[in-house]
Amino acid sequence: MQSKRRIRRIVIVAIGLFVLLACGWLLNTGRQLLDPRGQSFIQWWTGDDDVKQSLITAQREACPGAPFVLPADGFVGLLYNDPRGPYSGLNPHQGIDIFSSQPVGVTPVYAAYDGYVRREAHWTSALIQRVPQDPLTGEQIWLYYAHMADEQGNDFIEPAFERGVSEVFVEQGTLLGYVGNYDGNIPSRIGAHLHFSLVKDDNGAYMNELDFDNTLDLTPYLGMEVNYDSADGRRVTCVP
Ligand SMILES: [Zn+2]
Repeated sequence: MQSKRRIRRIVIVAIGLFVLLACGWLLNTGRQLLDPRGQSFIQWWTGDDDVKQSLITAQREACPGAPFVLPADGFVGLLYNDPRGPYSGLNPHQGIDIFSSQPVGVTPVYAAYDGYVRREAHWTSALIQRVPQDPLTGEQIWLYYAHMADEQGNDFIEPAFERGVSEVFVEQGTLLGYVGNYDGNIPSRIGAHLHFSLVKDDNGAYMNELDFDNTLDLTPYLGMEVNYDSADGRRVTCVP
């Protein structure tokens, strides 16, 4: 009798928890559907070519007064500090994702600023660039570019940046490679995009770029509103 009652109590608690979680998920999904930032994201995946073109930022020059250039053309779909997608409020996106309307291996990726490129020996699709002097703070910083390979891991990185190289100086605008969709899975679970982030330095070494606290908001560096908290969901452009 005692154990039956206990089982019933456990079942009721489990159902209650499930209902709570389901409500939370529904609320969150509903909020995202109503949010213009979420609507543009849905438009990108479901819209025709005209819709896609209307969301793409193609900006090869630095915005007025800003030090960095946007490293690739595309739809800046996941923003800095973004809680959507695989991210959350506790673990927001550490950079920006620039989605390409082209197949993988077509959209060029350029250096956002002058600096020294490194590619760790085990990196399939990523490069990191040391910038000795942050143009805004004077500190050393690092720029991280990822997903420049196809889902099989064939990379689209320029030969100058083969695995294991470091301290290869490049000027702003130098071609680094091409946008891909590598995420370590086949089939890849992501569309073709460049992940770009600004990573803090710790005594001459780059910090873990996957930790949001180790990254900085790219907004003042790009002269574009790319922080989730202040972006309006429309196509990202130079801040007037
Ligand atoms: Zn990303």
